[in-house]
Amino acid sequence: MNYRSTRNNNISVTSAKAIAQGLSEEGGLFVPESIPKLTKDDILALCDKSYPQRAFEIFRRYLTDFTDEEINYCVNGAYSSKNFDSENISEISHLLTGTYILELWHGPTCAFKDMALQILPYLLTCSAKKVIDGKDIAILVATSGDTGKAALEGFKDVEGTSITVFYPEDGVSDMQKRQMTTQEGGNVNVCAVKGNFDDCQNGVKAIFTDERLKSELDKMGITFSSANSINWGRLSPQIVYYISVYASLIESGEIGYGEKINIVVPTGNFGNILAAYYAKEMGLPVNKLICASNSNNVLTDFINTGIYDRNRHFYTTISPSMDILISSNLERLLYHLTGGNDKQIAEWFGKLAKDGKYEVTDDVRSKVKDIFYAGYCDDDATKSAIRQAFDEYSYLMDTHTGVAYKVYCDYKAATGDNTKTVIASTANPYKFGKAVYEAVGGNTDGMDEFAIIEKLEEHTSTQMPAPLAATKTKAVRFTNSVGKEGMSQVVLDFLKTR
Ligand SMILES: *Cc1c(COP(=O)(O)O)cnc(C)c1O
Repeated sequence: MNYRSTRNNNISVTSAKAIAQGLSEEGGLFVPESIPKLTKDDILALCDKSYPQRAFEIFRRYLTDFTDEEINYCVNGAYSSKNFDSENISEISHLLTGTYILELWHGPTCAFKDMALQILPYLLTCSAKKVIDGKDIAILVATSGDTGKAALEGFKDVEGTSITVFYPEDGVSDMQKRQMTTQEGGNVNVCAVKGNFDDCQNGVKAIFTDERLKSELDKMGITFSSANSINWGRLSPQIVYYISVYASLIESGEIGYGEKINIVVPTGNFGNILAAYYAKEMGLPVNKLICASNSNNVLTDFINTGIYDRNRHFYTTISPSMDILISSNLERLLYHLTGGNDKQIAEWFGKLAKDGKYEVTDDVRSKVKDIFYAGYCDDDATKSAIRQAFDEYSYLMDTHTGVAYKVYCDYKAATGDNTKTVIASTANPYKFGKAVYEAVGGNTDGMDEFAIIEKLEEHTSTQMPAPLAATKTKAVRFTNSVGKEGMSQVVLDFLKTR
């Protein structure tokens, strides 16, 4: 199976090329030419399989230019109890009958980004061997918090790669900063940027297209690549857990085969919920995909009206990984819903770049409304929802999961729909300890991150996960901070000393 660019159907590449390249040269995203289907027997056969075996079954349908040995090497390397604190890789918690929390944060950095970023280095190095023979890969990441740390953990000490992460000096939480600046590994580099996330992202984009830098790298036998969520190598691993949770629910007798479920996803860049859409298109019995946003509710409006308009106030919220006004992966959904109309996609996304706004056709709008339900909530409502779930079910959730839970409660109240429902839980609550402690009634005035966490542990009889606890005593290795104009020199200096 080949991959096409959403903005030019004449561009068709292998999965290895799509993963190694990340983005198509004219700015489109790579999508599979057709979506492979799973039969009833295919899904039932997954039931008694392990997570890596289930992942193998999904990947071999998408990565048809990889050998079985290569895919097995990737899934077994990534999804082992060496990297995850659970044999099952993800865990299902029961809130009440028919409402399940799918915990996707049992990896090394305690956020769901690990589900994809643990395997991406394997997929990328395998792909590079096929298409950019022998070159070393320099990964560049601009992060607002979770992606940077998950990418560092994924790529640390991976042969043939190095990674540089840029984060906004004052734009990440204390815990996120500690997680990154204490990162171990011989091939990693972390640098603060005096600016906001957009400055970091624009700086990284400028480095990617800097011809002088590129020719210097050519001489060193190095090529740049990206680990951000537009890469097919990051999206495809996320399809696996939606299919896997369905198999697990059949296995444990919670559902019967064919029974439809709702899936609720706290959404920012539209990557995680798009993976659920692919799972549905592959044949997973899904009723509604529920898209949950915080006050940056550009997707709620889009799903309800067919108008995407990023010209609005940007809110800084307690669910920062969803503070985003351009949801890149929506482009892939619209490509599929227009029947692969590359001209139409190029036009809409051209408008988005120029005016910050586009409107889809009535046909596409009604398809979107059939598949998705959308809602949003603000910080106060998120905190109340966290508190209510804790009081009623003794379940402590993070702020992003809190948004999803609240939007689901609203959905249920509005529709009366009693379909069994899986809520994607995207981070461990201790990653956002301050807001979570306040949500369950604590007072954080004048307290530092670790003091708050101790209080949260006491108050909720839960425990901070080991990888976060470890950052307390780890030495800070990276203190470098530059203006955005200094970013390319940071990359060059780092690569030269390697
Ligand atoms: C990245 C992230 C999200 C948003 O996921 P998208 O794929 O960008 O929609 C939600 N929650 C957490 C904790 C995240 O790190």
